[in-house]
Amino acid sequence: MRQSTLFLRTQREAPRDETAVNAKLLIRGNFIHKLMAGVYSMLPLGFRVREKIIGVIRDEMNRLGAEMIMPALHPRDVWEVTGRWEGMEKVMYQFKDHSGREVGLGPTHEEVIAAIAAQVIASYQDLPRAVYQIQTKFRDEERPKSGLLRGREFTMKDLYSFHADAASLERFYEEAKEAYRAVFRRLGLSAHLTEASGGDFSKYSHEFMVEAEAGEDTVVLCRLCGFAKNAEIAEGARGACPKCGDGALEATPAIEVGNIFKLGTRFSEPAELTFRDEKGAQHPVIMASYGIGVERLMGTIAEVHHDERGLVWPEAAAPFAVHLLVISSGEEVRSFSDMTYQKLTEGGTEVLYDDRENVSAGEKFADADLIGIPWRVVVSERTVASEKVEVKRRSETEPKLMKLSELVPLLAR
Ligand code: ATP
Ligand code: MG
Repeated sequence: MRQSTLFLRTQREAPRDETAVNAKLLIRGNFIHKLMAGVYSMLPLGFRVREKIIGVIRDEMNRLGAEMIMPALHPRDVWEVTGRWEGMEKVMYQFKDHSGREVGLGPTHEEVIAAIAAQVIASYQDLPRAVYQIQTKFRDEERPKSGLLRGREFTMKDLYSFHADAASLERFYEEAKEAYRAVFRRLGLSAHLTEASGGDFSKYSHEFMVEAEAGEDTVVLCRLCGFAKNAEIAEGARGACPKCGDGALEATPAIEVGNIFKLGTRFSEPAELTFRDEKGAQHPVIMASYGIGVERLMGTIAEVHHDERGLVWPEAAAPFAVHLLVISSGEEVRSFSDMTYQKLTEGGTEVLYDDRENVSAGEKFADADLIGIPWRVVVSERTVASEKVEVKRRSETEPKLMKLSELVPLLAR
């Protein structure tokens, strides 16, 4: 994509009302725009990052179940059956429509999926099953100030699984853990799996925690064996590791990027979600739910992968693979860089081409550092003289001169 035609304006200064690093960098790089506290637009660069993240999540989730989508607008009665219309009134946006009907914007979808599953699942032969969606959630979060980490409107991947017995749930739960680990690993994050209290849901839950200064949670961990617990419930944040006995426990701030819950029959019973066993007896279906926050992941990647000059995207989440910069407006340099753009693009590489005229080299370099695309390729009088381009990874300092014939295969993967 040619930067001269892109809907983009980077900013030197971060807005004063943002304190979180992720919001500052993502706003300066023009990935996102803040409409109000906790509500952000995804501008073209941010949209591409979001799509990349969703792509990785979808790829891993498709191993577990089928994708579907549920509405954001819910009637009161579906929430009434579990008592959560009142139970979640502090979090859920609830209002009356013009006809006086009480409706709410979904902060989560256990009630809705249980109502649907009650029509789909009838016998033991219909189990186990799992479905997921990637959908907009609304939560009236108190004074959100962590940028993308805590939105009032955000995208969640929520997967729901249905089982006849605990053993089936256990097997699936372990598979889901592996899929979650793969998502975070592919996106350049190292996540600790912690046992959590589960808050409103149940005590059988786990959280995936990424160490970061900006984290609102505290994790107690042992670096020797990898034992980790949410500080909310961990008894004693100090001393020897209860698992290996050798390491010393350490408390560290962390961001919860994902959450998995064994729900039991809490949602299936009120929804009359039951199945018939081999002998014809009815039982409530056992459920579990599994969430990942898409924008929270994007914000977490920004918190973990940046330096003083800007973002440093891991390849799987980067808006483009290559940022091509042309320095000089001379005919010869231009045509060499146009050719570079064409060759890379033809080789299947996603390129953001900074072809802007009347923009200084310094400004182009500063923008490239701020935007944080993994590879920077520069074409200038100097490189063209040797029929080469200058190549540098965003995470490294020393550029290399390379022939196009070396660069194209290096990047085309
Ligand atoms: P938290 O304790 O951080 O509020 P939660 O326990 O309410 O999270 P869940 O209801 O389990 O979170 O949601 C599943 C996932 O959705 C979370 O692990 C997180 O990644 C994401 N998420 C939850 N709330 C938000 C939010 N307000 N903004 C962005 N992502 C969120
Ligand atoms: Mg919450």
